[in-house]
Amino acid sequence: MRTITKHYIDGAFVESHGREVMDVIRPTDGKTIARVTLADEEDTRRAIAAAKVGFATYGASTKEERAALLRRLHEAAMARIDDLTAMMVEEYGGVVQFARPIVESGINAFLASEKALQEIPLTRGWGKTTVTLEPVGVAGLITAWNANALFMCLKIASAVAAGCTVVIKPSEMSALQATVLMEALHEAKPPKGLLNVVIGLGNVVGAELVRNPDVAKISFTGSVAVGEQIMRDGAKTMKRVTLELGGKSPTILLDDAALDQAIPAALVMAFLNSGQACAAGTRLLVPRSQLDEVKRGIREAMKAFPVGDPADPKTAIGPMVSQKQYDRVQSYIRKGIEEGAEVLVGGEGHPKGFEAGYFVKPTVFVNVKNDMTIAREEIFGPVLSVIAYEDDDDAIRIANDSRYGLHAAVIGTDLQRARRVASQLRAGRVVINGMTDDPQAPWGGFKYSGVGREYGRYGMEAFLETRAILEA
Ligand code: NAD
Repeated sequence: MRTITKHYIDGAFVESHGREVMDVIRPTDGKTIARVTLADEEDTRRAIAAAKVGFATYGASTKEERAALLRRLHEAAMARIDDLTAMMVEEYGGVVQFARPIVESGINAFLASEKALQEIPLTRGWGKTTVTLEPVGVAGLITAWNANALFMCLKIASAVAAGCTVVIKPSEMSALQATVLMEALHEAKPPKGLLNVVIGLGNVVGAELVRNPDVAKISFTGSVAVGEQIMRDGAKTMKRVTLELGGKSPTILLDDAALDQAIPAALVMAFLNSGQACAAGTRLLVPRSQLDEVKRGIREAMKAFPVGDPADPKTAIGPMVSQKQYDRVQSYIRKGIEEGAEVLVGGEGHPKGFEAGYFVKPTVFVNVKNDMTIAREEIFGPVLSVIAYEDDDDAIRIANDSRYGLHAAVIGTDLQRARRVASQLRAGRVVINGMTDDPQAPWGGFKYSGVGREYGRYGMEAFLETRAILEA
């Protein structure tokens, strides 16, 4: 049994002052694999104090110093990519075919931020005016459990590029992954006080970060409910906030799409990270005239999405992270049936042969109306709602009829038409003809999907303040 009793504060792994102990449960079989001693407010305040002292020097660092550090952090994290991936598979149940690229993209964020740093002019001037971009100060970074290493790397990279020092509160359900990452980053010899990691609960460590006047900024990835609370509680100390929240992303299949490719592409987006992805394309909008053909296509294509051991590279869908998440997904499947949607694939309960652990059946509903609960609320599991539309305008209307606006997809053969549709979608990111990524493209949501953007220069700008000096 592994135990974690230390946090990373002021450049060293130090024993927790907090005494509460939490079990780490393996999602594939529900067994306890580790025990973590959780931080309390005092651990958090120590970390904030270290970051505050660290900021006095790191906040004045040069572009070259920050760039060199980002390269070292990249190298140090890359040296542990196998361990980080293995930990994401074991602790969270992420399927290795997704976990590896997601960890890698997190690590590559250090280089993406270095590029952004090189490209952003930190000083501009005209006449007797000089404008500089200054680091905002100590930043509190709070992450979710579904891609913890990615979120941590992404936020650290942007903050470090901007000249901020940080206190990171990883999801308490990602303690093992967070510890491996910090062991790795420690090898890059970051200045003392620059990076601090406090493993603990949201309402203890997270709340202290939000309330503490020495923290200038909160960058948060998680649920809408907690995002709202951070905005509300952070207002008292005028926190700058970046909130990366939920989604209910539409995938629009245009009527000229080649279905043999379009359907598998749509399913990849729906079942991304076993459906535990904020960007998952969980509403599939299909021309009414092609509904029968699409249903046949989905049944066939689902064979390529086997449930199984997440460590097996052939597995597409692993377990849910916890019993709570399993129950949540089950309750939505039940609700979908009660509200009159039809189960095309999957349904309630465990898949056959996977009764232990938190495995669910990947489920596709048809006959879904956009006002049903399963089409409106974020389920955060492998549950897809197929919704029929009449024409392109109707598809756009349905896609935008959501309180969320994080991600969207358009699939079609006529690229001009696909672009026209994409340009009318109220979402922070729209992909055309398949899931793709660009580390310099902004990530973040319209509406309830959040506030602000991450990635590349957009992510870095979120940790900067603008100062003008004017000479008389
Ligand atoms: P969550 O909101 O429950 O927790 C997120 C983090 O906030 C955790 O570290 C938690 O400990 C902390 N927290 C909880 N209460 C807090 C408080 N009062 N003050 C400060 N921090 C607190 O979310 P989750 O269950 O970990 O993650 C799932 C959610 O995250 C989903 O809604 C999903 O859509 C969202 N998400 C968004 C993105 C994105 O980039 N937009 C990415 C991944 C996940």
